Amino acid sequence: MPGPYGARPIKGNRSVLAHAADVIWPPRSLLTGRVVDRPGVIEADAWTQLSFLTEPLCSRCGFPLPEPAGDDAVCGACAADAPVYDRARAALAYNDAARTLVLDLKRGGRRDGLALYAAWMHQAAAREIEESAVLLPAPMHWSRLAGRGFNQAAWLAQALARASGKPWSPFLLIRKKRRTSQAGLTADQRRRNVAGAMGVSAAGAKRIAGRAVLIVDDVFTTGATIEACARALRKAGAAQVHAVTLARVVRPVDALI
Ligand SMILES: [Zn+2]
Repeated sequence: MPGPYGARPIKGNRSVLAHAADVIWPPRSLLTGRVVDRPGVIEADAWTQLSFLTEPLCSRCGFPLPEPAGDDAVCGACAADAPVYDRARAALAYNDAARTLVLDLKRGGRRDGLALYAAWMHQAAAREIEESAVLLPAPMHWSRLAGRGFNQAAWLAQALARASGKPWSPFLLIRKKRRTSQAGLTADQRRRNVAGAMGVSAAGAKRIAGRAVLIVDDVFTTGATIEACARALRKAGAAQVHAVTLARVVRPVDALI
């Protein structure tokens, strides 16, 4: 869905349009497209459409738990099959409002919400960011990057680096295989789709050996992408792998697993 700025970027001119979108007048709400007093905000009466994820959460995957169960409590899915990463956190539950923000970012190339999203993600994963030596965007294959012109995960990682004061590295994690779209795939299909797709550059492996790192992405759907990144990072010697996303799919059925 194109953003309220109507900006589906044109190949080759993306950065020019993105900068134009940043300063276009009048500023529009990130969520509703209504005119607001400054760029990069959501008007007060629209905030209730957002669902922020707060404790109690599964200590591993960040899934909301029905009641507090201690710092090390895990959800049924993580108890049955522990994830490769250490801890994943997300700012928002992926509902209609979060979907609007994510699609404006990844399909519309709308950048004026990045500072706000980074502030939310910083809050959601304060401990994980604090522990990590470097922030790493979930990578996009070079051919896909060349076609689209940007990686929204890299935008989020850069904004989060600015908000937290942590370094970030856009090319340490590499996507070796171009994947088919994940949309409409089951959790198992998604896992197979990204298995072995990620790698770490030789210089990158030196930088992360024995250290904690944090993967940054836009949406945690089944966790397959984060798991594939975490597997590559562990293989390259990372001591701990955390993740933070702007939004996370939270289906009621998951709570029953
Ligand atoms: Zn879990």
